[in-house]
Amino acid sequence: MSEQTKFVLPEREIPEQWYNIVADMPNKPLPPLHPGTQQPIGPEALTPLFPMELIKQEVSQDPWVGIPEEVRDIYKLWRPTPLFRARQLEKALDTPAKIYYKYEGVSPAGSHKPNTAVAQAYYNKMEGVKRITTETGAGQWGSALAFACNLFGIDCEVYMVRISYEQKPYRKVMMNTWGAQVFSSPTNRTEAGRKILASDPDSPGSLGIAISEAVEVAATNDDAKYSLGSVLNHVLMHQTVIGLEALKQMEMAGDFPDIIVAPFGGGSNFAGISFPFLRYKLTEGKQIRAIAVEPTSCPKLTRGVFRYDFGDTVGMTPLLPMYTLGHTFVPAKIHAGGLRYHGAGVIVSQLLKDGIIEAQAIDQLETFEAGVTFARAEGVIPAPEANHGIAVAIREALQAKEEGKSKTILFNLCGHGNFDMSAYEAYFAGKLQRHELTQEEIDAAVALIDTPAIPA
Ligand SMILES: *Cc1c(COP(=O)(O)O)cnc(C)c1O
Repeated sequence: MSEQTKFVLPEREIPEQWYNIVADMPNKPLPPLHPGTQQPIGPEALTPLFPMELIKQEVSQDPWVGIPEEVRDIYKLWRPTPLFRARQLEKALDTPAKIYYKYEGVSPAGSHKPNTAVAQAYYNKMEGVKRITTETGAGQWGSALAFACNLFGIDCEVYMVRISYEQKPYRKVMMNTWGAQVFSSPTNRTEAGRKILASDPDSPGSLGIAISEAVEVAATNDDAKYSLGSVLNHVLMHQTVIGLEALKQMEMAGDFPDIIVAPFGGGSNFAGISFPFLRYKLTEGKQIRAIAVEPTSCPKLTRGVFRYDFGDTVGMTPLLPMYTLGHTFVPAKIHAGGLRYHGAGVIVSQLLKDGIIEAQAIDQLETFEAGVTFARAEGVIPAPEANHGIAVAIREALQAKEEGKSKTILFNLCGHGNFDMSAYEAYFAGKLQRHELTQEEIDAAVALIDTPAIPA
């Protein structure tokens, strides 16, 4: 047996195509609806917000979409990313399970997010866009887009969720370093922001609110387009470079995962690592469990409802068929800022509905415990979001030990936590609390959803 720990691919192995799982889904995603008329909309309805090429990708049913050479050239700055066998973690857990992780924290912004940011900036540049607006939670997406826009000479305007703006000042400075403008959301620069501030001047903000602001600016300015870092089909597709590389690396290791685990915000890093493997489940019936891991304080996959909902708080975006806690749901201020979104991507929602993937919710105390165990065994200090996936990988490895069976677990280490020391500090100081929503709180949030139900 090989004692190899790190599996590295040469540059030429950067994928030449993204994988579009829609082509292989037994039930295709339902169409988006117009926010006003609630009738299905066509691609043309999205033209105020996105460049045409990304809209085509959003509705594409082709299994493979070519990656432009210019985008692959930029990917070379950090791709292919390494895949590791977590031998020290296996030892620490004394488990017969084999644990592998793909490490996306080697990108300039420190997470998987530049995989789509670079592609999106490229297509906007090709179509003459001068300015891109976006929202960011923990600052990961904003910094990825700031990095990408800078490479293509596009102005970048970021609406950053207020709670994160205050908790993570260094992420803001990072964005500024790459030339982006950053605003603490809700702002009084937009109609949407002013409306929220009028009813709650101390609003901690939310991704839903920040999206409303960024969308409003793009929709009301001809030179500006909007960019989203997760949830949408084209974003999930761009992230499949992660899993496509991991397929080759698992082959180098002479293994194939029984279980794939990733944290879940809107679904992009989960899709990125799992979809290229799930292709074999959908087309060849291969047995693979793919587990999306969300926080107990924002449990849309495990406790939300499957129905049409808005992507933003104010209700400006098209209605998407998704697992949701309701677009007005504002999650508690947990430290994994990137997982505080009320809804889930359309593709992932349909796959969950159809029983092709699974979901679990984990409390933040268990996630930090897992992150510290991982850091002490493997070195890298994971992002608080990534700790959710690690916690489930550890649970599965310990269960394998209990059952006395080996199994192969692959998880996505989607980012490092070097900008999240205040969260780790709070954890070590015993200041983090368990946070589980009561059924009354879930019912109250879901009762506020006034959008169309999905026909059975
Ligand atoms: C943004 C982010 C997430 C959550 O978003 P997904 O689209 O679900 O991946 C998770 N981890 C990290 C490190 C992130 O930056």
